[in-house]
Amino acid sequence: MDGHYGCDFIFRLHPAFFIWMNYFFLIFYLYSFYYLKSFKTKHKISKNDRKFVSLPSILRNYIIMRVKRLLEFLDASPVNFWAAKNISCELEQAGYRHIDPREALGEVKAGDKFYVTKNDSSVYAFHIGRMPMADAGFRMICAHCDSPTFRIKPNAEMLCEGGIVKLNTEVYGGPIMSTWFDRPLTIAGRVIVRGEDALNPKTLLLHVKRPLLQINNLAIHFNRQVNDGVKLSKQKDMLPILGIVTSELERGNLLMNVICTELGISQDVILDFDLYLADATPACTFGVHDEFISSGRLDDLSMCFAGLEAMLDTETTDTTKVLAIFDNEETGSQTKQGASSPFLSMMLKRIALVQSGSEEAFYMGVERSFMISADNAHAWHPNYGEKYDPTNHPVLGGGPVIKFNAAQKYASDAVSAAVFAEICREAGVPCQRFVNHSDVAGGSTLGNILASSLPLQGVDMGNAILAMHSCRETGSTIDHIYAVNVFTLFFSSQTK
Ligand code: ZN
Repeated sequence: MDGHYGCDFIFRLHPAFFIWMNYFFLIFYLYSFYYLKSFKTKHKISKNDRKFVSLPSILRNYIIMRVKRLLEFLDASPVNFWAAKNISCELEQAGYRHIDPREALGEVKAGDKFYVTKNDSSVYAFHIGRMPMADAGFRMICAHCDSPTFRIKPNAEMLCEGGIVKLNTEVYGGPIMSTWFDRPLTIAGRVIVRGEDALNPKTLLLHVKRPLLQINNLAIHFNRQVNDGVKLSKQKDMLPILGIVTSELERGNLLMNVICTELGISQDVILDFDLYLADATPACTFGVHDEFISSGRLDDLSMCFAGLEAMLDTETTDTTKVLAIFDNEETGSQTKQGASSPFLSMMLKRIALVQSGSEEAFYMGVERSFMISADNAHAWHPNYGEKYDPTNHPVLGGGPVIKFNAAQKYASDAVSAAVFAEICREAGVPCQRFVNHSDVAGGSTLGNILASSLPLQGVDMGNAILAMHSCRETGSTIDHIYAVNVFTLFFSSQTK
């Protein structure tokens, strides 16, 4: 009888097999229980989070738990300064020591972990390998922590009809401006207050954690062509309303009052500020299977965080590991804290000099090194397929994307792409390739800019997202796991 094949096979087994199987299942069950409990503790999963109910949902919940840390990071990092601070905090908790670049580096030993910041908005972490930089080079992941937004101008308050106060702003980077309309926004950045002397002011970070302002559309009744496409003026259309003045004391002081209340300081100590608008709605997952991420600043905080997770997760290896989080990519990187700055190159040279006593060690190390420049790529948009290259259009959930450009706007070439694709293969992660539609100009990123001051072999890659530079971009949950796994393998594999 056909249906008995399986049963016949089982009944031929020795009874001891079933006893051992019971032990096996008991051990497996206890281990699973222990693993899930420790996982929940480590990642602060509360009882209100999703439950483990079946095998497919274990995988789904595992992905969501890994992504949960990313969502928390995105919400806690409304602008570059906060991203740099949060990355620094994670590094400190993992045993990285903050060093002051004004001080001598001192002795640098295998296994040493330290980081340095520039302008409070870029972070460079180093995990020293067992072999000197001259012999093993370094492995670097770089990303950027700034995103398109609106910067609040000095003397920003503009009093309007009915006591309404709007803020004068200017555009930072290249946002899709229409996506900033009619959504609750907040203010974040840094406030500079009086210090002990004029050359040493103090910096306080500000993040107002509630909806505070909004940029409002004009009603369709005043603009019947609004759905046909409207040219927006950065100066006229994009100014947010902050509140209504209720007393003479508030006139001209509405913004300052918020800053003073949030920071617990008086107005007379405030010297200046770098404050920006940010989406006030928390990041979230969406989709039938929670396969998508919706958040502001996925470009490029998602890659910053994937690099950070890998940096925190790896032991000391032969090769020195470097995580470089730059600022100002969205405005061309031409600042002391941007990718075209010599600051990172100087730090690496200092490390090589301390290790080996000669500049030659640094130059030898550069030739043995590899860089992953991680910046998000464009995912194939189901409504605009004609905008993409006919044969190279990455999709959400398809794994990390290697970016190519014949005009060399990306650092990738056949050799570096092959290296990265092999790392993906070894990590069990799919990988995709992106090339612009030949009639579309496309953008640039960190890799080629960095290469002009630090001539590393490297690849430009990134996870695919939709609506790049929208106030809220869309990414993929599984792509985040893929990126962390690839970066972790890149950092942890030994030099042969
Ligand atoms: Zn970017």
